[in-house]
Amino acid sequence: MTRTAIVTGAARGIGAATARRLAADGHAVAIVDLVEEQAAETAQAITADGGTAIGIGADVSDAGAVTAAVDRVTAELGAPTILVNNAGILRDNLLFKMSESDWDAVMNVHLRGAFLMSRAVQAHQVEAKWGRIVNLSSTSALGNRGQANYAAAKAGMQGLTKTLAIELGRYGVTANAVAPGFIETDMTRATAERMGVPFDAFVDAMVKEIPVARSGRPEDVAAAVSFFCSEGAGFVSGQVLYVAGGPRA
Ligand code: NAP
Repeated sequence: MTRTAIVTGAARGIGAATARRLAADGHAVAIVDLVEEQAAETAQAITADGGTAIGIGADVSDAGAVTAAVDRVTAELGAPTILVNNAGILRDNLLFKMSESDWDAVMNVHLRGAFLMSRAVQAHQVEAKWGRIVNLSSTSALGNRGQANYAAAKAGMQGLTKTLAIELGRYGVTANAVAPGFIETDMTRATAERMGVPFDAFVDAMVKEIPVARSGRPEDVAAAVSFFCSEGAGFVSGQVLYVAGGPRA
């Protein structure tokens, strides 16, 4: 069945792969990202492949922008019943060097963003008596040096997910989290650059610690999101799936 899906932070990386995958699954997809032109470019690529997609510029941490974006999706594609909270940023630093603005920025995009988007979309899901929410957590939720802000936010995504599952289950809405390990995207490229390590060497070092002996690709995460969004996953809720090439937690 065709549904309307919203994927945040979907202009590139894991979000773009997820948007492509949900479009291939037959859904109409709204790509929400900070810069409308970049969101529209990714949407056009999906449309060129025969899918249905639109790009919308919005900051997920801005309540007004979130309401406007969800209203626009409803008007242009129909009421959204699938939501993937994927937008994310890094502001890594050791605790003693971490600024308040680095802490707040990460909390705002991941947690406030997922809260605002979920609150706006659940109204449509409850009305439809069907919905899927997938939140992007991370293996960093288990703790990671230099990521006090990000680890706290990604652990918070898991608590949010479980609570949404409990509150919304009676309306046919499931909520699950995908927690990727090392995935090759602009985000991990930026991390290598900040550490002064060539990306290839960074990937090689990470792969040594990954049981399946390769790095992750955005499509690996998209496949897990696709499962949680499927009709058949209706009895799976409140779960955290580590997509990390090996066991975690
Ligand atoms: P990415 O390549 O940096 O893409 C993130 C996207 O989110 C960008 O398009 C970015 O827009 C957008 N974004 C940032 N702030 C936003 C905001 N306030 N409102 C709307 N969009 C916003 O990152 P990625 O690697 O694909 O990561 C996607 C998600 O997976 C994130 O939640 C990340 O934490 C999580 N994750 C990634 C990895 C990994 O190894 N890559 C591992 C675990 C978890 P701009 O380009 O305009 O900044």
